Amino acid sequence: MTELTREQVLGQLKKVKGPDLESNIVDLGMVSEIFINGGEVAFAVTVDADRAQELEPMREAAAQAVERLDGVDKVMVALTADRAAGSSAGSSNGGAAPRRGPPPGEMAPPPPMQAKAQAQGEQARAAGVPGVQSIIAVASGKGGVGKSTTAANLALGLSAIGLNVGVLDADIYGPSMPRLLGITGRPQAVDGRILNPLEGYGLKVMSMGFLVEEDTPMIWRGPMVMSALSQMLREVAWGELDILVVDMPPGTGDAQLTMAQQVPLAGAVIVSTPQDLALIDARKGLNMFRKVDVPVLGIVENMSYFSCPKCGERSEIFGHGGARVEAEKLGVPFLGEVPLDMEVRLRSDQGQPIVVSVPDSLHANIYRTMASDVWKQIEEGSSAGVREAPSIVIE
Ligand code: ADP
Repeated sequence: MTELTREQVLGQLKKVKGPDLESNIVDLGMVSEIFINGGEVAFAVTVDADRAQELEPMREAAAQAVERLDGVDKVMVALTADRAAGSSAGSSNGGAAPRRGPPPGEMAPPPPMQAKAQAQGEQARAAGVPGVQSIIAVASGKGGVGKSTTAANLALGLSAIGLNVGVLDADIYGPSMPRLLGITGRPQAVDGRILNPLEGYGLKVMSMGFLVEEDTPMIWRGPMVMSALSQMLREVAWGELDILVVDMPPGTGDAQLTMAQQVPLAGAVIVSTPQDLALIDARKGLNMFRKVDVPVLGIVENMSYFSCPKCGERSEIFGHGGARVEAEKLGVPFLGEVPLDMEVRLRSDQGQPIVVSVPDSLHANIYRTMASDVWKQIEEGSSAGVREAPSIVIE
């Protein structure tokens, strides 16, 4: 059976008339990002809050239109209210944004601008974030390769060289910054709308983990993160930051592309294990950033080899060195190899990242070197002229 595509879903949705009964809901820019997971399709339709009840038949028509496609088992459509920016109507936290995740079964509003731009085929352009000099992404082609561990330690490495650093944890599949940096709590609103980031080890941190309940079903998190991400980026009191490190969700699908598009990235760091498979995934990651015109600052080989703490013997469990060779082949910098180490794992789980908890260790040294290398590239990049924000259209 062929895989369902976003275009097929949009094609069906174009048959559904909007509230004006003339144009369709796609052209009206009412349809959010579409999430397809096997035979399950989820999306939101943005409507006027006052008309939600009366537009229920439109929601049903949208669901039925998509259900008619071959291969669709389940369709989830949510009507979401189009809140005016800064409006606190209907929000239990004084309109603070981003809000906590809605209860399962409800969706947060999708970003209307983004939906509109996609629907109309316009080129969306990511604007900068006031006070934040540069933003970099840490990404991986698949989960479990140590992307978040790298992001946290890289951020601390950047902080160790005297920079003001923020971390935006945009990993919807498993926000791990609260655990890695040992931070708990909910961000407080400064003036009803702007949130104060939480702080850990001198880093300013905003995470989906502070905002979304852990047991929120994944299918609902996708649309949520799309709206939350731009709010987490722009409606947070970051203050003056030299650099903001974004921990991306793993993978190279639509969600990642949209993020790469929404965030004005100065560059991206790709984390991979030496395994061939992971490298293929890493290559996809690389291509994704190239597609959206974001410079790849380099590849990190994580869990590169195992150094036995007892006998000192070095075992190359995953066949070490693949990422370095691959980086050379692809013409991108190689940022370093991080050995597999129990200490890294234990300390990560305890919220004591190795760069701050064992600053004299080999690992801390590797991350600091990586940080200097990344910062050097950012500085060179910015002195070479202001880079245009990436602009892409996802089709
Ligand atoms: P991802 O963000 O790619 O899913 P994580 O950073 O959460 O990966 O890491 C996955 C697991 O691997 C975590 O338990 C983490 O502590 C562990 N880990 C990551 N890097 C290393 C390393 N170099 N040595 C040992 N364990 C590691």
